[in-house]
Amino acid sequence: MSSFSTIGQRLAGPCGIQELMDDLGEALSLYPDMRMLGGGQPAAIPQVQALWRQRMQAMLEEGSLDRTLLNYDPPAGNPQFRETFAAFLKRECGWEVTSENIVVMPSSQSAFFLLFNLLAGETLQGKKRILFPLLPDYIGYANQALTEGQFTACLPRISEHGPREFKYEVDFERLKITPDIAALCVSCPTNPTGNVLTETEFYQLRDLARHHGIPLMIDNAYGHPFPDVIHGPFRPRWEPGMIFSISLSKVGLPGVRTSVVVADPAIVKALSNMNAVVSLANGNVGQALVGPLLRDDTMLRLGREVIQPFYKKRSDLAKGILTQALGDDLPWALHAQEGAFFLWLWLKDLPIPAAELYQRLKARKVLVIPGHYFAFGLDEPWLHPQQCLRLTYSQPTTVVQEGLEILADEVKKARAEA
Ligand code: PLP
Repeated sequence: MSSFSTIGQRLAGPCGIQELMDDLGEALSLYPDMRMLGGGQPAAIPQVQALWRQRMQAMLEEGSLDRTLLNYDPPAGNPQFRETFAAFLKRECGWEVTSENIVVMPSSQSAFFLLFNLLAGETLQGKKRILFPLLPDYIGYANQALTEGQFTACLPRISEHGPREFKYEVDFERLKITPDIAALCVSCPTNPTGNVLTETEFYQLRDLARHHGIPLMIDNAYGHPFPDVIHGPFRPRWEPGMIFSISLSKVGLPGVRTSVVVADPAIVKALSNMNAVVSLANGNVGQALVGPLLRDDTMLRLGREVIQPFYKKRSDLAKGILTQALGDDLPWALHAQEGAFFLWLWLKDLPIPAAELYQRLKARKVLVIPGHYFAFGLDEPWLHPQQCLRLTYSQPTTVVQEGLEILADEVKKARAEA
């Protein structure tokens, strides 16, 4: 609508994340026969669901649910929870933090929206921008800037490991930190690719950010310290000057809309104040559910012993199904599966854009995400993601199997037509 403000039009116009969430919501509610390989929602893992039921039961029995539901928390989060969280990070991860470094937010989605617009946009020193050093990156960031040109991004190096596997690497020769860069931001593991920064890349990014006096923002939605769906040994480590985001969503609690940002006290205070303006306070049920599990090692063990092995097994299974279905004759490769919940498929020489393949698959009741959504902040077109798809394997195995087989069939058809 033309009477909407400029900011209103930026936020209210159609965009990738809104289409994705609409498709996802419709698929789950209106078309139960849709094979959902598209969303980022966590799998229903019986052991994890049992734990949340058990915690809710305990809250009902001890009467703490009444208190939780009745009260507004302070905008930075429940003070006791912030203490508990800081102690957990210090004890289990060895990070030098106190509650002054912890702010609870009503989701990491909203935390990033506030952070991007806190740090970048119009400033007294001119326009500042957020730099994404390793595209493709999370679709949900793409429309969060309130001003034009607030995001910029760096293309990766593509390193091929044999005919069927590749990995994106930070291209440090291409990555330039100019005076207009306000912060670096990367999801780790990356949604959509499942990439995990190597230790060398992480410390090189840290040194670059430190040298330029800007924050390195790491989005740990799938990673450290929970749900810890990282298959290798390296875990990023928070240090003063960095901004880390941790979410409760991927431990099976997207419904509680709760995340935690770990940052310097000035950033914590700014976010807390912004939270008061935008939301008054956070939902507090998530904090109440996980608080006691942070005081012992349950939260960590849940990730390491249940969630990470579950997704590793699913990832191997999906890879096996896809390898068989696509066969030997087509040129395709998967991104190295280092973490998160996705396969990132590169269909080399795909004769149609991935966006059209998405439509054809949707007509056959398979929902995937075409790759172009994950390339943003670029001044020039980048064709590579138009040959890529993000595929989720968190749904039941039969759904994943049928979905991937239909996908392979549709790819073969598209090639035969070309
Ligand atoms: N960051 C990444 C990388 C994600 O994939 C997601 C959700 O899929 C989010 C943030 C948003 O998470 P939350 O549910 O905490 O808003």
